[in-house]
Amino acid sequence: MDFDLFVIGGGSAGVRCARIAAAHGARVGVAEARFWGGTCVNIGCVPKKFMVMAAEYGAHMQDARGFGWENGAGAHDWGRLIAAKDQEIARLNGIYKRLLDQAGAKIFEAEARFVDAHTLDVGGQRVTAARIVIATGGHPTRLDIPGAELGIVSDDVFYLPAMPRRIAIIGGGYIAVEFAGIFAGLGAETHLVYRQELPLRGFDEDMRGGLATALAGNGVVPHPKISPVRVEVSGDGRRLELSDGSRLDVDIVFFATGRAPNVARLGLGKAGVVTTPGGAVIVDDGLATSVPHIYAIGDVTDRLNLTPVATAEGHALADTLFGGKPRRISLDGVPTAVFSIPPMATVGLTEAQAALRGPVRIFVSRFTPMRHALSGRARQSLMKLVVDARNDKVLGAHMLGEDAPEIMQGIAVAMMAGATKADFDRTIGIHPTAAEEFVTLRTQTRSVGQPLAAE
Ligand code: NDP
Repeated sequence: MDFDLFVIGGGSAGVRCARIAAAHGARVGVAEARFWGGTCVNIGCVPKKFMVMAAEYGAHMQDARGFGWENGAGAHDWGRLIAAKDQEIARLNGIYKRLLDQAGAKIFEAEARFVDAHTLDVGGQRVTAARIVIATGGHPTRLDIPGAELGIVSDDVFYLPAMPRRIAIIGGGYIAVEFAGIFAGLGAETHLVYRQELPLRGFDEDMRGGLATALAGNGVVPHPKISPVRVEVSGDGRRLELSDGSRLDVDIVFFATGRAPNVARLGLGKAGVVTTPGGAVIVDDGLATSVPHIYAIGDVTDRLNLTPVATAEGHALADTLFGGKPRRISLDGVPTAVFSIPPMATVGLTEAQAALRGPVRIFVSRFTPMRHALSGRARQSLMKLVVDARNDKVLGAHMLGEDAPEIMQGIAVAMMAGATKADFDRTIGIHPTAAEEFVTLRTQTRSVGQPLAAE
């Protein structure tokens, strides 16, 4: 065999796996056809967050008036933001590639596809490997409606030549909600078209309600319980026809309607690797596919499509195969954040999920963050703990509000360690912060779920 391990895909999952396996002494090859660092670094988390920051600066400049500053927000230069973002992303690209080089992995800047279960065609070259890892990620999908090709997806949004004046974003998931905040914050007329009553299905209901209010407060025009029907060209822009018969005339229609695994060109059938009907590579809890020496990590498995999960899987797999440190990654208790404006962050169970399992005590706090006492911005923060009434364990923590992702990371550590509500209560707060609210939630808001036998 040419390699002990060949990794297909140089994104978060693949780079980590290749790098750590090489550091453990394995002979590693890694192929990437598009860009090192994958979705997260190039057309996902990282540039998205720069754009969220850009949008937040506009609001900060307006808010500064409440603190005595004279100048409000001036004009925004989209071109300058994109150029600055591109420069930083190019730097990160270089770092990812260098890390692989330094670890001793052999780099192929080409597409790889299976010839058989141990052989790959990598840009026309045959390579063989004892073990193969599929880490090809996913891609955004459009809805199957007439004119869908006239819309953009998240791959395109990072390279728009100009800032749209009017945009219709379709979907109510992570990407839709995050870009609604970005475009509204940068001054576009922003429509959010989603088929549920509230955005972010699957998140805690209190947070979803709070987020819908916050979006409207930022000027996003909500179109709940509505589906798009067709997209047409209209002058220089697009006309979006909706299921209620109304039409939106905008510059850009943006489909943020989910992602699908990148498997179409891999020739998985030649290796015997089995996928779901949606194309997700099926893996066991050791990340092995239906072929024992072929593994899959990250978004191509379409389980919990988050960068830190992908890197954790890549690292664990490399340690298990080549480091003599076998370990598995649990997908329970993974904290996550939506970089909406304001952001939302969560770890553990929602109220509804917890209530299905037994009696739970709910603590909710809504308050105006200190900053907005002076800024005058009508924005509330929302914090919530979901507590098991039987053993006092904190089952879920949720926050909508500024700094929520930064705060939730620490809360997630406490919950990993099995913290109880009493542990939260005996922790002294840091004052004055929003975070201290998590340790001063004394008044129970309600009880839900199966009642305790004694009640
Ligand atoms: P999501 O799965 O989060 O959301 C997809 C949205 O599209 C949902 O609102 C869904 O509605 C809607 N939708 C799907 N099909 C249809 C349809 N036929 N008609 C109308 N609406 C439809 O996908 P995203 O594209 O937002 O993001 C993909 C994934 O990437 C996320 O789930 C997440 O794992 C990851 N991600 C993580 C981020 C982070 O960590 N901050 C940021 C961005 C992405 P419904 O709810 O009704 O199904």
